[in-house]
Amino acid sequence: MYENIPDKLTNIIVTGKSGAGKQPRIDVLVDEFDLEQLSTGNIFRSYLGKFNDHGYSGDIGRFWQGKSFVRDDEIADVLGTDDPDIILGLKAKFFVDRGLFVPDHITNELFKGSFAKRDHRGQVLDGYPRTLDQAKFLMELLEEEDSRVDFILRVDNDDEMIVERTVNRRICPDCGKVYHLVYKPPHEGKCEVCDVEVVQRSDDTEEKIRSRLKEFKEKVIPAMKYLEERGIPIAKVPGHLEKFTPENVRKSVLSSVNKVF
Ligand code: AMP
Repeated sequence: MYENIPDKLTNIIVTGKSGAGKQPRIDVLVDEFDLEQLSTGNIFRSYLGKFNDHGYSGDIGRFWQGKSFVRDDEIADVLGTDDPDIILGLKAKFFVDRGLFVPDHITNELFKGSFAKRDHRGQVLDGYPRTLDQAKFLMELLEEEDSRVDFILRVDNDDEMIVERTVNRRICPDCGKVYHLVYKPPHEGKCEVCDVEVVQRSDDTEEKIRSRLKEFKEKVIPAMKYLEERGIPIAKVPGHLEKFTPENVRKSVLSSVNKVF
């Protein structure tokens, strides 16, 4: 039925505004093509968790000098630890909590490490690249590693719908499974897989969502345009479906992907 799609895919990029509905589409790609999800947002949240667990309650804005952070050893002195993961968690938190993108040099290095762990293949890149600099970095890396991206899946949704969805979004702090207070409420407030209480992401407030939407227009769109110009096709799917069932999501994704081959 989706006869154009090759049996074996190398890597896929999934893009879309934050809160557009990427995760259910990623789930389809992971299942259908036996890929693994690499999410820079999840990577940052895991470092952020390490920083939170360390338990520093002061204002982290004090480490920011307008264009860069103070030296790591100065941060370490105040935090009482020189664990690089905790220091990185502090830096990630500073941006994530403001709905701003983490600077490219930090993001590219973290991405590179994660991508290499699985041999630069078999992955769904979720939330990366998001800037022109990241897109160029990725293309160079793919060339060096003799790898490729087969296509970009872009999940489209309008801003107001996203704001409504995102303020009602809850996630499982353990496995990252996503719930919605109205459309997919967690039973007794708990994750159905892990049985732990779901939480609201610290950056899921209206102000921060609007800031992320602005970042999307200014940075992600030019990055995707660059990749398209380099010959990577874009498959587009609607983030909002009248009947949101797993089968409809699957059909919508596969029929759109089928068209790009
Ligand atoms: P997400 O879960 O994809 O919405 O990402 C959450 C937050 O992590 C974003 O708002 C950014 O602060 C940060 N982030 C994730 N991916 C990137 C990226 N590729 N470049 C810069 N910042 C990122």
